[in-house]
Amino acid sequence: MGDSTETLDPADWDPLRVLARRIVDDAIDYTKGVRDQPVWRDMPPEVRAHFRSPAPQAGKPLEEVYDELVVNMLPFPMGNIHPRFWMWYMGASNFTGALGDFLAAILGSNLGGGDHAAAEIDKQVVNWLKEMMGYPAEASGTLVSGGSMANLIGLTVARNRMSGIDLRELGLAALKAPMRFYGSDQLHSCHRIALEALGLGNRALCRVPSDPGCRMDIAALRAAIAEDRARGINPACVIATAGTVNTGSLDDLEAIADLCAEEGLWLHVDGCIGALLAIAPESRRLVRGIARADSIALDPHKWLHAPFEVGCVLVRDAQLHHGTFTVTPEYLENAPRGIASGAWLHDLGLQTSRGFRALKVWMALKEHGVTKFGRLIEQDLAHARYLTERIEAMPDLKICFPTSINIVCFRYDPGGLPESVLKKLNTEIMVRMQETGVAAVSDTTVRGRHCLRAAINNHRTAREDLDILVDEVARHGTRLVTGIIREQC
Ligand SMILES: *Cc1c(COP(=O)(O)O)cnc(C)c1O
Repeated sequence: MGDSTETLDPADWDPLRVLARRIVDDAIDYTKGVRDQPVWRDMPPEVRAHFRSPAPQAGKPLEEVYDELVVNMLPFPMGNIHPRFWMWYMGASNFTGALGDFLAAILGSNLGGGDHAAAEIDKQVVNWLKEMMGYPAEASGTLVSGGSMANLIGLTVARNRMSGIDLRELGLAALKAPMRFYGSDQLHSCHRIALEALGLGNRALCRVPSDPGCRMDIAALRAAIAEDRARGINPACVIATAGTVNTGSLDDLEAIADLCAEEGLWLHVDGCIGALLAIAPESRRLVRGIARADSIALDPHKWLHAPFEVGCVLVRDAQLHHGTFTVTPEYLENAPRGIASGAWLHDLGLQTSRGFRALKVWMALKEHGVTKFGRLIEQDLAHARYLTERIEAMPDLKICFPTSINIVCFRYDPGGLPESVLKKLNTEIMVRMQETGVAAVSDTTVRGRHCLRAAINNHRTAREDLDILVDEVARHGTRLVTGIIREQC
């Protein structure tokens, strides 16, 4: 084809082959050597400036583009693939998953639907996750960007089902009574955003007090439902949390499922943190009852360590799930055979075009098997118990909340310091550990007490990493307190 037609493909593939091999080699070295790198480092001004140039009008060789990234991107990661990253609640990624994302991009498929192998893989991963949760095979589900979207999808189905009207057609103005959703005061913030986006508003979300263990107080839930009914409000859905973001506490799923059955309410479980405990050999009892939920949100980019992003929502009643989102415009009619003869996967959520997120999960599950992921979950729990014991044995470190799963809340507290000073002190310890690149923990406030928080959701963490954390917190703490005392004299 000697004409002047342009394409994004190279004229000569061989140099690309060389570069692509170099990128893969570098990627393996990078991942293999991650332990010897700082968890995080601050970007110097020239690196930041590099990312503030206008859109390139003319191109340049891909080798040069990649070289820019070697200098300006690779040394400045968020840090979550490092063995000593325990901030918030993230997965640690895995190389197989990265290859999966690469292969998915090579196919370039749109998982909005169609009859092709990627669509089969997408459906299979959802089926595997149903199996792992003990959910019935007839249940429905879909892969989405993450837990927030998974919760939004589940709550949308719940809203439409529990509204008592044809909500899709008539909208919220036709509601006969205001609807109410219930979650504990430890609920993740995405639920508030979901209820706001659903048009129900923040006030439609009742925050039920939690007990001293940060678990939803069931008696308080029962009372809130009764009070709402007496006032003409329509109790619609309980959002139980299997693993709260602050402390990892698990709501009593069996008791909440019983109450929902009794009261005729939808049960949605936010299992973004803990749902996958269902595959942990020793600890699956912690999420007993999860399969009784009407919908479950879970997060393969957390405890399955898939590279971001991939979340999943499961809905027990497949018809309700479909009925919430299906629309068939004239340009998306099914054909009897061929590419357009497959199921429309976009009928299960808000996206039309969908990425091939399933492959990275599929490949890692095939390679390692579910049982290994279960063991890795147990390993994180054992790490959290070990860290808790180490902290308890240190005179100046205190556990702030009992460790139930893999989240450890603690602080440096040598005694005699007011809350405000302790908060400043611990914030400074946290930031210094990040700035020196040694370890990354985050912080939160539980029942009025500020604390550091290590969420050990990391298949690369070893015990020695936790020893380093304990030593570093004590070392920075002692130094800082000496400084504070000096200042006061
Ligand atoms: C992480 C998390 C979410 C949100 O999930 P994303 O994947 O970050 O969107 C929701 N609920 C809980 C309990 C979480 O830990």
